Parts: sequence; structure tokens; C-alpha cells
Amino acid sequence: MDPVADTLRRLREAFSAGRTRPAEFRAAQLRGLGRFLQEHKQLLRDALAQDLHKSAFESEVSEISITQSEINLALRHLRAWMKDEKVPKNLATQLDSAFIRKEPFGLVLVIAPWNYPVNLTLVPLVGALAAGNCVVLKPSEFSRSTEKVLAEVLPRYLDQSCFAVVLGGPQETGQLLEHKFDYIFFTGSPRVGRIVMSAAAKHLTPVTLELGGKNPCYVDDDCDPQTVANRLAWFRYFNTGQTCVAPDYVLCSPDTQERLLPALQSAITRFYGEDPRSSPNLGRIISDKHFQRLRGLLGCGRVAIGGQSDESERYIAPTVLVDVEETEPVMQEEIFGPILPIVNVRSLDEAIDFINRREKPLALYAFSNNKQVVKRVLAQTSSGSFCGNDGFMHLTLDSLPFGGVGASGMGSYHGKFSFDTFSHHPRLPCCAAPGWRRSTPSATRPTHLAS
Ligand code: NAD
Repeated sequence: MDPVADTLRRLREAFSAGRTRPAEFRAAQLRGLGRFLQEHKQLLRDALAQDLHKSAFESEVSEISITQSEINLALRHLRAWMKDEKVPKNLATQLDSAFIRKEPFGLVLVIAPWNYPVNLTLVPLVGALAAGNCVVLKPSEFSRSTEKVLAEVLPRYLDQSCFAVVLGGPQETGQLLEHKFDYIFFTGSPRVGRIVMSAAAKHLTPVTLELGGKNPCYVDDDCDPQTVANRLAWFRYFNTGQTCVAPDYVLCSPDTQERLLPALQSAITRFYGEDPRSSPNLGRIISDKHFQRLRGLLGCGRVAIGGQSDESERYIAPTVLVDVEETEPVMQEEIFGPILPIVNVRSLDEAIDFINRREKPLALYAFSNNKQVVKRVLAQTSSGSFCGNDGFMHLTLDSLPFGGVGASGMGSYHGKFSFDTFSHHPRLPCCAAPGWRRSTPSATRPTHLAS
């Protein structure tokens, strides 16, 4: 007996029986998810603190309340999103009704990473449930405490004939992927994204891939260094740099670098104190493996700020590296930790060229007092998302689709985009009005017969 196969069979039966289709059922699941968040807020906060040393503030803003507001939005708009959408008709279909119907895909698999283990597991779940699917959740094995809460407590709040949590690492997830799903939503690294997409291809299963990469941040000479530094430090060191949309490296002139360094030092001290290690606001690296990788990156270029580390608690200080060569590992792989390298460029053109010679990033940032500079970076580059003069604030808007492009992913979600992602909707039935027979159009008759 294969318990996973049994679970999937049970979920498929529930879907085929139409259990998840009514709006009332979907709303009840969403409300259940909301109750889980509210009733176990402290349990989740504790789990996030154990996994990532996440502060209560970060847990609230980037995990719990962001998920709750997605639930609230879906509940508010569920019936409107589900409604058939009438489409314009042509002369030949004037008496027909033509519309787009949003159908659930069926059995959906959501595979999540560890860095925002509540948000990145549950926000896709909101979209999948709202769209009327049965769902298998596969949380990350690295965020163990959160995984445990999701596996042991969350199912009590959802209909278990339509929802299941499957646990495991690469091997178990590989086995899970051998089964046929109707949609796979994956968040994680480009390397594993390729594995997921290959497995999905065997069943011709559509996928959304929310991946990562190196997010450039251009800082123009025409800027206020302290404002830029405050925003850079906030968005680079939030969640200890373990954020897919964090600015991965800075591109600026040597002059701007000189103005930026004291401003960055002052921002880091303001946020984390003289001794960031004792700050309650700075997290820790998720695992020994990631810690060792990051410690290796500290040897690239020259440490201008920070650079301290302590293996016993997987601590790495907020760090800035300068004199970094393009060929060094810190510029070859996604950093995903509290390290910010600065690479010097001589001009905006050179920065744009640098960005365009690499894989398309998930996010791209440009700082300048000159709007034309920001507009040029936006116009001449491609990325999953873009933010001018700020960090990843675009993520807070559920009116924007969130996703990558090229190597940083495909597909998008958040807000109504989540509902659309988890719905099959390019269906345009053209139902002739009853009792009406379309006559042979005269224009198709051979003219010599008509005369
Ligand atoms: P990961 O790719 O190692 O793991 C993601 C998930 O895939 C986990 O659930 C894991 O169990 C599973 N997995 C790992 N190896 C597998 C294999 N061989 N076969 C099948 N499944 C496997 O990613 P991670 O380390 O958890 O997260 C970090 C990465 O995720 C970074 O690249 C980051 O940029 C990216 N990320 C992207 C987003 C986004 O929204 N685009 C958000 C967060 C993280």
C-alpha cells in the first residue's frame, strides 16, 4: 500500500464528486484557514523563531498578516471572481451566449521553500482553495518547526477529504512528483524548478515556477545616500537576507560607493545596534549547510562592514563587500543571506549592460533622484518585477501579479492573480440560443448557384 497514492485517490474522488466547487465550500475553507492563523498565531510565531530566529514583528508583517489579508481579499471577492465573464460577440454569434468560465484544475500540488514558510505555503493555498481545487501541500523540510505546525494543526481547520499535507525532502518530493497532478505550484530554487518542470512534463501538467536568482540594484550618483542606504539595509537584511526579492548586489560608481558606505554603516547600527548579534531583530541562517556556503562567500572581495560570523548559532553579521570581481562566487550565485556586495560601474549604460548580460532577475531596483534614470533602467531591462527608489514594497500590493521571468520563473500570483493561476479559464463556450438554427451563410454559396 502506498499511503501517498491513497491520499491522492481520496482527494481525486472528492474533486470528481464536485465537493470543492460550491462557493460556500470554498469560503468555508478560507475561513478555516483564517481561524487557523488567528488561533495559532503564537504557535506560528514560536515556530518561526525556532526555525529562523524570526522576530515577532517580521513574523507578523511578512508571514501572518500578509496571508490573512490574502484570505480576506479572496473571501470578499470570491463570488465575483467565480462569475462567468461575458465576452464581446460578432455578427454571426449575436443570438448566442459567449462567456469565459473559471474551472478549478482538480488536484493541485503546492511545493514551498523554507524562507517564509507560512506565507509561501499558505498564500498559494488561498488561491488554490478559492479556485475550487483539492490541494496537497508540501512544506519545506528545512523549516522543521513550521512544517510540524502545518502538518499537525492546519488539517484540523480544512476539509480533509480535499486537503492533505505531505512531508519530506528531495527524495520524498521526487516520489510525490511521479504522481499525476492537474497543476503544480512550485516556489524554490531554479535548480529544483528544473526537476519539478521535468517531472510535470511527463504528465503534461501545467506549472507555476516561483524561482530566485540575483536581483541587481543600481544606485545612481544623483541620490541621497542615507535614504538609499536605509532602504538597502532594510530590504537586504530583512529575514537575514533570506528573501528571494532582496537586492542581491549594488551597482554604482566608486564615488557613490564612498558616500554609501558610511550611510550603510549608520543604517545597520540604527536597525541592529552596535552589536547586531545581540539584536532581537536579526535572524539566523536556516541550516549548517547554508551557513557554510555563506561563510565561504565572506572571503570574496574585501569586507567593508560586518564580516563576523559564529557557527555555533549560525550567525552572520550584516555585511557589505567591496572590490568584488564579477568572477567571484558571490557574484555567480544567489547570495540568500545578509551579505551585500558592491560592484563598481562607470555609467548607467554599463550598469544596464551588466544586468542584461545575466539571467533575467526576479526583482530589479534602481535608485536615483532623476526620474529619467529610473525610467531608463525600467525600459531597457527585463525582470519579474521592478521598483524605483524602494525595496520590495511592490510585494505588499495584491493588485500586482508577483512572479519571475526567464530563469527567475514563470507564472504569477497574489490577489486575483492567484485565483486565475489556479483556474483553468480560457474556455469560451459559444452556446446557440435554444430553438434557433443557424442557416447556411449565403456568402459561402457558390455565386452561380445563387443566381
Ligand atoms: P529548494 O529549491 O531547495 O527547495 C524548495 C522545495 O523543493 C522544498 O520543499 C524542497 O523539499 C523541495 N526539493 C528540494 N530538492 C528537491 C528535489 N531534488 N526534488 C524535488 N523537490 C525538491 O529551495 P529553498 O532552499 O527551500 O529556497 C530557496 C530558493 O527559493 C532560493 O533560490 C529563492 O530565491 C527561492 N525562492 C523564490 C521565491 C519566489 O517567490 N520566487 C520565494 C522564496 C524563495
